[in-house]
Amino acid sequence: MLLYHSEIFEKHDTGTHPECIARIVNVNRMLEKQGWIERCTKPNWMAATLEQCKRNHTEKYLDQLHRWCEESAGRVESDTVVSSGSWDAATLAAGAACDAVRRVCRGEDTQAFCAVRPPGHHALRDAPMGFCLLNSVSIAAQHARSLGCEKVLIVDWDVHHGNGTQASFWEDPTVGFVSIHRFPFYPGTGRVDETGTGDALGTTVNIPVSAQTGPKSFLDQLATQTEKFAKKFKPDLILLSAGFDAHENDPVGGLSLQSEHYFEAGKWIAALAKEHCQGRLVSLLEGGYHLEHLPESLDAHLRGFISD
Ligand SMILES: [Zn+2]
Repeated sequence: MLLYHSEIFEKHDTGTHPECIARIVNVNRMLEKQGWIERCTKPNWMAATLEQCKRNHTEKYLDQLHRWCEESAGRVESDTVVSSGSWDAATLAAGAACDAVRRVCRGEDTQAFCAVRPPGHHALRDAPMGFCLLNSVSIAAQHARSLGCEKVLIVDWDVHHGNGTQASFWEDPTVGFVSIHRFPFYPGTGRVDETGTGDALGTTVNIPVSAQTGPKSFLDQLATQTEKFAKKFKPDLILLSAGFDAHENDPVGGLSLQSEHYFEAGKWIAALAKEHCQGRLVSLLEGGYHLEHLPESLDAHLRGFISD
């Protein structure tokens, strides 16, 4: 497995915000302690280029974001904070996803995990949103397309709907999007009847679940709907927006999952990738705000990846 981790993600200083530096510090500590850093291949990689970012974001927004970071602008949207280190962190996060896609597509490895922040799946083409600055998973999907992947499937199991990712590919039949999320909940999108438009009608699959949904039902619905879609869609590559905020103790999200359920989820998605795209799977950290359960859930997720 390829593993992307860096202390640069600690430069995105958000103060007392739930999406805080301690998240990645604790994740990196777990990766070390549990032997992942020793066991995995750790590629050198670069920040995403403007050209890569521009495949998903407007030039005007990228300029604005760069200025905000230079000015250490603080709160730039109701939930989103920017500081002087945020540009380097956000572009390095998107760059990790692009580098992982490139190496996986070239066959250097089949699986990759990017331990990055800030998260990305709420970021819109022209605006930050919900703790997210650049939509790393969308930038990575566009990068995969540019490298010749014909069909990319993005699975998003963060407890929040990946509205930014959905919007990126709403009209694009070559990138499928399956999201399971608590509903009604932030950001308010992700109804069953949101399925894409034009040629892309049916390439967005939303699985909204109530706050009372138990772990078995959550995992069953995710597996059933994703497998049904993947059979028809036939992806060359699977990207995963891996949020861990459906954990029962998460202070921001919260559903009913316990850390070990992410073992099952990881094992399931690795098997899905084997069935449909020779195992090619790139997973990116999105949400997850409990400072102990996040690293614990992530460790379970990675164990699931390699369990087969
Ligand atoms: Zn989330």
